[in-house]
Amino acid sequence: MKEQIDTIPVNEAYEAGDECPFCYLERQAERRSIRYALGPGASYMEPDVRAVTDSKGFCRQHFKKLFDYGNSLGNALVMQTYFVGLLKELEAQTEEFSLPSKRGVLSKKPVEETELLRWAKEKNGSCFLCDRIDYHMERYYNTFFHLIKDGEFREKVEHSKGFCMHHFAALLEAARQKLPNAQREWFYETVCRLMKENLARVQGDLDWFIAKFDYRNAGADWKNSKDAVSRSMQKLRGGYPADTPYKQD
Ligand SMILES: [Zn+2]
Ligand SMILES: [Zn+2]
Repeated sequence: MKEQIDTIPVNEAYEAGDECPFCYLERQAERRSIRYALGPGASYMEPDVRAVTDSKGFCRQHFKKLFDYGNSLGNALVMQTYFVGLLKELEAQTEEFSLPSKRGVLSKKPVEETELLRWAKEKNGSCFLCDRIDYHMERYYNTFFHLIKDGEFREKVEHSKGFCMHHFAALLEAARQKLPNAQREWFYETVCRLMKENLARVQGDLDWFIAKFDYRNAGADWKNSKDAVSRSMQKLRGGYPADTPYKQD
């Protein structure tokens, strides 16, 4: 059922004709999640939502996006209770803390990871927004592998611009479990062809972007190269480097 609900956004992403339909979907999921976290619905005032943000916190990239979104008071309130939990945990961790053994000093073997280090890493490794976005992306991959059973959708994929390298890897990963057997051959053939053709196309745009700086080409047409730098960055790692910050309205 869920898969059918998601056919609309996935089809829309293909119609957008972007460098990567999953970047498009990810951006939508991210903006929806930022709006949910900090927007007019004020979910951050609901105790069950706050309990989750208090435990997961936010990664650096998403703190930056929450800052750009606005709503300083909302941001402050969310961090206020996070701080309370963090300090309580730190208190407990440092109470139990024991020095790592000195084995490492003498034997070149690395000192074992302390509980304190493990805790500190864990606190830095979780994000409320990353988890929400991952949840949506998982559903979009399910939808993609559901939709490729349909010839019309396969044709759409065949005529698309492929994927960015980030989502190419994610799609291959998802395929290990979700790819229907009947589309196996089609999938690997199509996806590999799309990646080769479209990486080369964007590389060509970048080449022409550079060539345009030669005075002999000053009067020549930009062709498709004006935004070649941001599209190349997207193709290589995903995302939209040229996006302006998403802000509350
Ligand atoms: Zn992408
Ligand atoms: Zn995050």
